[in-house]
Amino acid sequence: MKKKAAIIIAVLAAVAVAALVLFDAVRPETFNNSFFSMNTYCSAEVQGRDAEKSLAEIQSIVEKLDSEVLSRTAENSVVYNLNKNGEAELDSETATYFSLLADISAESNGAFDFTLGEVSSLWNFGSAPSVPDKNRLSEALSHSGYEKVSLSGNKITLGDKNAAVDFGASGKGIALDSIKSHLETQKVSRAVVSVGGSVLLYGKDDFKVGIRDPKGGTGSIATLTTAETCVSTSGNYEQYFEENGKRYHHILNPETGYPVDNGLVSVTVISESGLLTDALSTACFVLGIEEGTQLAEHYGAKVIFITDENIIYTDSETKAMLSLTDKNYKLAETE
Ligand code: AMP
Ligand code: MG
Repeated sequence: MKKKAAIIIAVLAAVAVAALVLFDAVRPETFNNSFFSMNTYCSAEVQGRDAEKSLAEIQSIVEKLDSEVLSRTAENSVVYNLNKNGEAELDSETATYFSLLADISAESNGAFDFTLGEVSSLWNFGSAPSVPDKNRLSEALSHSGYEKVSLSGNKITLGDKNAAVDFGASGKGIALDSIKSHLETQKVSRAVVSVGGSVLLYGKDDFKVGIRDPKGGTGSIATLTTAETCVSTSGNYEQYFEENGKRYHHILNPETGYPVDNGLVSVTVISESGLLTDALSTACFVLGIEEGTQLAEHYGAKVIFITDENIIYTDSETKAMLSLTDKNYKLAETE
């Protein structure tokens, strides 16, 4: 009897080992890559038969979109030429992006403004930031204004040659949309791609995304569980400096040219479209909770606001997807 039991145990153990080996063989291998592009850190993890070649393609999509189309500084990019000559011919994809961004600018009453390039340059957040001279700031501001830009067919005209178009608030999300279109043509079962604060979660799976601690470190304060989607966060912690004891960050109020100062520290937007999540996270940061919520609703997007008092505001549906991991933060009551 004892011998029989020993044989059964041995057989079961062998089956378990075989199952483990088999499971490992079927579990798709994950391919990872990280790189720097669009002035930010990018990373990708991809699973599926075409994962390895897709990984290389993802990097090339971001780099080409930046250097050939969206970069303000890469000579010969579409935006570089547009800012230099006051007009440019766009391919139909870029024209579609522009027209959606113009729509967001109008819907946000100019809180989102893609013509703040010269104003942002004066703050110089990218390299040696300082508070700009007041007169120079108001001069730059007087040349900005999304409503001066016109799109006729695929031809874009600035309206004011001293304005500068800047895709800083939307380019990362546009990159995610291009990557998603690419992945849809490939045998890729699952992918997580980050371009700065914008993330694409791709595939038929549940994903967990950390909402970054807006007050420091690289830790997260909550976890968002979601199906395939895009998620972008705009935070006052991303690019900032201090001068005479005051903190200045890179999300600007287009009415004043100064950093937005409305008690928000971060805004996260969730939507199928990367362009929408990226542009709306910036727009909702400028607008604040009430108007920002209305703007996000208009585009069918979800939004999470975090205030400097550590209160998280969102709708009840999004609340159900959130799990708090830092007890210093509190979820506001949902009406
Ligand atoms: P994000 O990190 O997506 O919120 O984008 C912030 C970047 O967008 C800044 O670094 C600026 O280049 C640009 N930006 C700042 N304020 C605005 C604004 N009100 N509307 C559009 N773009 C902005
Ligand atoms: Mg943005």
